[in-house]
Amino acid sequence: MGAIMIRCPVTDELIHVGIDTDQDSFQALPNIMAAPVRCPACGGEHVWSKKDAVLETTMRIKTPRT
Ligand SMILES: [Zn+2]
Repeated sequence: MGAIMIRCPVTDELIHVGIDTDQDSFQALPNIMAAPVRCPACGGEHVWSKKDAVLETTMRIKTPRT
């Protein structure tokens, strides 16, 4: 599993859009605008689409690999 992330246009930080999925499901997503996400980095709301998103699977900071 990975976390769908977008880059905040204000702070240039990656933020989690609140959706976790796997690589196959991510690739299968249609490239449409998703619901706005509340941004923890700048406090605003950002609309995003698949082309803006990345699937983050490497920064599992608090999840030990088992
Ligand atoms: Zn933001």
